[in-house]
Amino acid sequence: MLKREKEREREIAMERIVYLIERAEKFKNVDYELARRYVELATRIAMKYRVRIPKKFKLYFCKKCLYPYKAERFRVRIYKSKVVITCLNCMYIRRFQLGDRDVQRTRNDLQSI
Ligand SMILES: [Zn+2]
Repeated sequence: MLKREKEREREIAMERIVYLIERAEKFKNVDYELARRYVELATRIAMKYRVRIPKKFKLYFCKKCLYPYKAERFRVRIYKSKVVITCLNCMYIRRFQLGDRDVQRTRNDLQSI
């Protein structure tokens, strides 16, 4: 019984995370601070309920300062067959190996930002 409820809780947590990050995306060009707050809430819920933020959504924001990536606030470069994403708010750098099947998808996702 307890296990069942836990599963339901995590399901709800996941729904909220997706909702919050989508909202952050929507508002990032209107109110950047508010957008960051949404991301912060989403990551807190993820930690509390121990759910993984889907990979796709992880690419929407800097995992250090939690500001969503938006035009002119982040940089994407390909260097030595690696994708390098730099957050221009806190200069936190993330690298992805090219050739990874997910990277292709990553690049497509980033182009839409
Ligand atoms: Zn950052």
